[in-house]
Amino acid sequence: MDSAGTALDDRLPSDRLLRATAAQWSAALAWTSADGTIVGANPGFARLAETPLDALIGRPLPGLLDLGGRDWQAVWEGARGDQRPPGTGALRILRRDPIPVDLHWQYLTDGDDTLLLCEMRSFDERERAEAVARLQQNVLELVATGRSLKQVLDFLCRQVEACAPEVACSVMLCDDENRMRVAAAPSLPAAYIASIDGYPIGPDVGACGSAMSRGVAVMSADIAADPRWAPFQAETLAHGLAACWSNPIKGRNARMLGSFALYYREPRPAAPFHRRLVEACVHLCALAIEHDRARAEINRLAYFDILTGLPNRQLLADRATAALALAGRTRQPVTVMFLDIDRFKTVNDSLGHAVGDRLLVEVATRLKPLFIEGDTLARLGGDEFVALLPGCDAAHASLLAERVLATLSIPLTVADLTLTPTASIGIAVHPDDGIDFDTLMRQADAAMYRAKQAGRNRCHFFRRDINEQAVRRLEMEAALRDALDRQEAGCTDGEAPFELHYQPQVRLRPPCLYRVEALIRWTHPRWGAVSPAEFVPLAEECGLIDRLDSWVLRTAVGQLGRWRAAGVPVPGLAVNVSAVRFARGDLPDQVRTALATNGIPANDLTLEITERLMMTEEVGVHDALDALHALGVTLSIDDFGTGYSSLSYLKRFPVAELKIDRSFVKELDIDAANRPLVRAIIQIGEALGLTVVAEGVEREAQHRMLEAEGCAIGQGYRFARPMPAAALEDWLAGEGKHWVECPEEDCISI
Ligand code: C2E
Ligand code: MG
Ligand code: MG
Repeated sequence: MDSAGTALDDRLPSDRLLRATAAQWSAALAWTSADGTIVGANPGFARLAETPLDALIGRPLPGLLDLGGRDWQAVWEGARGDQRPPGTGALRILRRDPIPVDLHWQYLTDGDDTLLLCEMRSFDERERAEAVARLQQNVLELVATGRSLKQVLDFLCRQVEACAPEVACSVMLCDDENRMRVAAAPSLPAAYIASIDGYPIGPDVGACGSAMSRGVAVMSADIAADPRWAPFQAETLAHGLAACWSNPIKGRNARMLGSFALYYREPRPAAPFHRRLVEACVHLCALAIEHDRARAEINRLAYFDILTGLPNRQLLADRATAALALAGRTRQPVTVMFLDIDRFKTVNDSLGHAVGDRLLVEVATRLKPLFIEGDTLARLGGDEFVALLPGCDAAHASLLAERVLATLSIPLTVADLTLTPTASIGIAVHPDDGIDFDTLMRQADAAMYRAKQAGRNRCHFFRRDINEQAVRRLEMEAALRDALDRQEAGCTDGEAPFELHYQPQVRLRPPCLYRVEALIRWTHPRWGAVSPAEFVPLAEECGLIDRLDSWVLRTAVGQLGRWRAAGVPVPGLAVNVSAVRFARGDLPDQVRTALATNGIPANDLTLEITERLMMTEEVGVHDALDALHALGVTLSIDDFGTGYSSLSYLKRFPVAELKIDRSFVKELDIDAANRPLVRAIIQIGEALGLTVVAEGVEREAQHRMLEAEGCAIGQGYRFARPMPAAALEDWLAGEGKHWVECPEEDCISI
């Protein structure tokens, strides 16, 4: 035995003998170097490649072989690692008419020399038949082991293409609206797939559309000359698809399921072998599709409520377990909302089960749109529904419950009867009310029971303190709505629920009045003055802020107009605008109208907005900011420093002013740590050419420090408190007179 492991008699001319063996070998042999260059080949390979032997030496083997998407380097490394080549027929010789081959390879080393020996055998007819039988067996195995329909059909197409390299395959499904849906087409170009996916089928729509519509095989031997291809001709021809043979896939009872098609790269009819392939594949596809539908149906029965189509208790429990596990890790709240329809039993007993069922379906239909992706609305059975809301806290849950109650209580007509459905809701929130699903369900159920006892058609939280807050919120929302209605209807003075107060902002050096900020005040008949810090966020949440801020804008600009007419020296006005308000596109128009109606120049108006607004990516918000800037209105960032850490928005948006938040100014003269922060904000303002306003200035020491740091404008009790319009007029004429009168040269310092 020699070093390569071959046993040869020493007296034999081993080199010549081995060459002769290779020359006579029936299979095609080629030796390549590491980069894939053919360094040796036998006549068998020349025959297979239909190329003279001499012309093969020095050519890259990967140029002759389709490696099924693998690159040569991977093949080389794989062979070195003793990896077997991909299965039979996955590779093909690239001739004018490619044929499938069976491939083996072997990595050879002799001293420093390393070579790859590739052995290829072409298929004959018998082998092709065997390949089809193997394909059937493999596909059935995939179906049986529960692979997805997409995986099965993709595999099927690839196997067919390996057996018949001259074709590309596709499987289409026919959806409920009679449109084509591409289920698998691994070798067809993505752009072509996109152009046919969703296209309505019809008797003259390409080959697949026609086959599905007519229920018979359709051959388009020359796509370029076939009028049925008109809608897709450009796409198909551009991608080198010249002919197509499509066969309908029918299920039990001849139900149309889809189509199986072979595409060719040149105009031609189908070959006899293709007919055998298609016969087998159409059957396999029908089997795989029906198996998939049966599985989906079983899933639907196991996890969904048949009457309403909502998830059932089992699916709810599964999702809850997953959501709670995640929430435990991320410390996010999860709300469980238990909903029970009020007096459902009476409806069922007195009006019959059919009406009861209609009511349940209607409730499900109404509720579904209120929830977002990630939420689960389930029906437990009877008249009980449960919503699982990951990421939803008590405050948000309370809002949502209100919407649920409002949406349910719209009257509904069933069998000539008008019903007004109501429900009682109980809410438990993870982690405060429980960690696991069972506990949360129990608490939510108990809370729901209390809601029933308290008179139905309401929502109760499991925890009493949250309940009280929720009740107060609900009352306040109703009161706010009522107050706005009355205000907009024009109530007589003295009874007006809302009023504006104005607080001066002063230039620190030289001291003079800069402008006044309008601040809303709400007096409730029972609760007295309610702080805007409480009702403004509530108005934002419950969608009332548009109306509130519109009223403020109209009233404040109107007041400035009256002051101007009466010669009251108010140099400018600042109005707060909620970020929520910007999402609606009509703000610039409203501002323009208010200014024009009252004859106020745009640069006398400042809008105070919060940093939150700057972080939004909504295009409408950017447009509104630009439009306001173009009008000439000043934009000021309120409560600066409390929002987000990114300051890049200051460059991107047309902002002219920063208001240092009260919290920084509050202890400026007491806590030394605040001074560098305030100084930094002033420097940012200076660097970007922005006016800096300090709010909440209460004491002389703060005032002096701000002045020393170069802050331009101050606002706070040190100078004046917010006051009604009439009081401001008195202030301007009396206590605050010096702010107005001081000529720049010899202004009075305070
Ligand atoms: P803001 O815009 O930062 O308004 C300044 C707040 O600081 C006002 O509170 C004002 O009364 C208070 N303040 C002024 N000087 C001092 C001081 O020296 N010391 C202290 N401790 N506080 C001072 P107010 O009026 O309670 O308003 C609270 C917030 O409500 C406002 O903060 C603003 O964000 C919002 N708001 C007020 N009116 C409106 C409005 O018409 N529309 C909107 N969207 N929000 C408003
Ligand atoms: Mg403000
Ligand atoms: Mg502020």
